[in-house]
Amino acid sequence: MSEKILIALGGNAILQPKQEANYENQLNNVHHSTEMIAQIVKKGHRVIITHGNGPQVGNILLQHEEAKDVIPPFPLDVCSAESQGFIGYMIDQALKNTLQRMGLKNQVVSMLTQTQVSKDDVAFQNPTKPIGVFYSEDEAKQLADKKNWVVKEDAGRGWRRVVASPKPESILGSEVIKTLTDANAIVIASGGGGIPVVKNEDGTFQGIEAVIDKDRSGFKLAAEVKADKFMILTDVPNAYINYGKPNEKALGAITLEEAKQYIKEGHFSAGSMAPKMESAIKFAEQGGKSIICSLDQAGLAIEEKAGTIISK
Ligand code: ADP
Ligand code: MG
Repeated sequence: MSEKILIALGGNAILQPKQEANYENQLNNVHHSTEMIAQIVKKGHRVIITHGNGPQVGNILLQHEEAKDVIPPFPLDVCSAESQGFIGYMIDQALKNTLQRMGLKNQVVSMLTQTQVSKDDVAFQNPTKPIGVFYSEDEAKQLADKKNWVVKEDAGRGWRRVVASPKPESILGSEVIKTLTDANAIVIASGGGGIPVVKNEDGTFQGIEAVIDKDRSGFKLAAEVKADKFMILTDVPNAYINYGKPNEKALGAITLEEAKQYIKEGHFSAGSMAPKMESAIKFAEQGGKSIICSLDQAGLAIEEKAGTIISK
């Protein structure tokens, strides 16, 4: 049976933590991901792809900051757009090449996507996400005054700019993404959680400096395009309870109630697995099926033979 599947690619699918962040490494990793995705397309499913951008947006910001005496740095929302552009380009090209080799004729399109957030989101009162380079305390405080940044000491390593990670409210252009998907195109969208924007009182939009969690936006997009499945591909084969402890246990097919209970018991880390579980639960609550699995087990997980699967 043909299904509509939203696939969220984790940061590792683009750059592994110990790899040098050069273009060739990132393109190679992306090729590996598109092999897996093409197998899913070959089975006749409709696919929408989203992806993370944490390391890439940090690196782009650093490029701007390092070159600041030559060219004025761009704001963070523009860096996010740059990261979406180059990652979208890589996935788009790699997937087209893979599909061509497999004799598949699906259209592939990458869409620069803006995600609406609220300027009243509590996350703006408490920015927690460190990005970019390290500064001395003096330097950081001067920059904070001059540029209206929030800076914090980061785990004994120096001072850094921190930004808000607000909740996505809606994915702009999701109707068009749905139309393209329903016409059997493969759409790459909402990369890095989407470029954060706020709506002004007169209905116009403007960028805001923040980094949105891609799993939270992934859920929004999956719901807005009416996907049947929401697959979160990461670097672990399952979500675990008692993760990293001697009694850790991989979660297979679980109910919504079980998933909520495990969240309550605090089994998932805030910056990594918790947003995945929370987003997976929200999607399942709306009647869809959510899957959290490793990239390499994506094919098996679609057949419900691997991964953590949450449904009503
Ligand atoms: P991605 O780039 O795919 O979003 P993350 O690093 O954000 O990856 O999330 C995956 C990571 O979550 C795993 O590598 C693991 O270290 C961490 N993690 C934290 N708690 C858990 C848990 N309970 N089960 C599985 N992984 C967990
Ligand atoms: Mg993550």
